[in-house]
Formats: sequence, structure tokens, C-alpha cells
Amino acid sequence: MAEDFSQQEAEKFLKTRIRLQKAAAKARTLKAKERKAQNDQIVRCPYCILGNEFRPMLPRPQGWFICRKCGHTAIPGKPEFKCFCQKCGNLNRAA
Ligand SMILES: [Zn+2]
Ligand SMILES: [Zn+2]
Repeated sequence: MAEDFSQQEAEKFLKTRIRLQKAAAKARTLKAKERKAQNDQIVRCPYCILGNEFRPMLPRPQGWFICRKCGHTAIPGKPEFKCFCQKCGNLNRAA
């Protein structure tokens, strides 16, 4: 009977391992999805409205974005980047 018990334990162990592996695989696909979402992220112009949301800015190959309506520019992940569009200029003067 001791053998049966250890067999059961081994099966339990294996099942747990498979469950953990499946969970890890799921987490990996989720991460990949997140990465993809980051790659084709949409940067929106804070000054222009399109429909009931902010207007998506046009992605440039150099990694920055420009608004076709007001000329506002932005580089995601670079908060120190200063935009020189008219609206940002007004904002800076007011501050
Ligand atoms: Zn704009
Ligand atoms: Zn701007």
C-alpha cells in the first residue's frame, strides 16, 4: 500500500507541475501581448479632440509622434522632450 501512496503523491506532484507550467505559459503569452500593444501604441494629442477622444498622433519612423492638426510633437518615454508647437509654447509662457 505504501507504493500506491507514493504513486498517488507522484501523480499529484506531476499535476501540480503541469498546472504551474501552464500558468507560466499563459503569463508568457500575456507578456507578449503587452509587448505587442506597446509596439503599436497610440499616442494621442492632448490638444485635439477627434470624435469623443483625443486625436491619435502620426507615428514617425524616428520614434516620435506628430499631430497633423496642431503640429504638436511627442516622444513616448522621454518626458524631458520639449515640444515647440504653438500650443505648448503658449503653455510654457503662461507658466
Ligand atoms: Zn493636436
Ligand atoms: Zn506641443
